[in-house]
Amino acid sequence: MCVVCDVSLGRRGFLSLAGSGVAASLLPSSVFAAIEPRNTGGGPTTSLSADQALAKLKEGNAKYVSSPQLCEVDLAKSREQVAKGQAPWATIISCADSRVPPELLFGGQGVGELFVGRNAGNMVDTATMGTIEYGSAVLGVPLIVVLGHERCGAVAAACEIVEKKTKFPGSIGSMVQAIVPAAKAVQGKPGDFVDNAVRESAKRTALKIATQSKIIAGLVKAGKVKVVAGRYDLDDGKVEFFS
Ligand SMILES: [Zn+2]
Repeated sequence: MCVVCDVSLGRRGFLSLAGSGVAASLLPSSVFAAIEPRNTGGGPTTSLSADQALAKLKEGNAKYVSSPQLCEVDLAKSREQVAKGQAPWATIISCADSRVPPELLFGGQGVGELFVGRNAGNMVDTATMGTIEYGSAVLGVPLIVVLGHERCGAVAAACEIVEKKTKFPGSIGSMVQAIVPAAKAVQGKPGDFVDNAVRESAKRTALKIATQSKIIAGLVKAGKVKVVAGRYDLDDGKVEFFS
């Protein structure tokens, strides 16, 4: 099942949603006029470009790897600073795996820094795509990262479906099914099957975001947003970004 194929909400769709009370209660009115990003508290959105945001993530991850004890943040202070509105500078779509918390592995980011969507296998369904679109179109987030990770259980399950036709119960089966095309694409390639699938799946998901969401595709074309994929190493804590 391709869970993002039905996402086709362009500006016209956004505008038509404006008449809906539900949409109006969720989104600031300015977004319906021109999709102008804004801080929900009325302040400025981030001044960082996508490249600057990526550099900041790399710097934070290097700090996490070399000196994790220095990654502490003053949470009380950052909570106070962003209580009235948020201006996050990167969206991270990562696995629900308890060992992959984006705020920590990017150097101890405080409250109000990262806009995060998590699910097993770091996939993009309609809810997650809407979250990503809201982050960039409404909150002005310039960088979107799809972060796979070493020894991902969801990806390993997809590889098991490909190799052994294993069936998984309940919603787990359909969730994992979304990763199967990536696993099939790298089956038989040199190296570790699961790790190759982790990389392939993250790249495919990043491409999906950049091309199947009309909102994000438009922002990418305008040079306002970049979408990148990466892989987190559970052993050494390093994030590798794929260009
Ligand atoms: Zn995982």
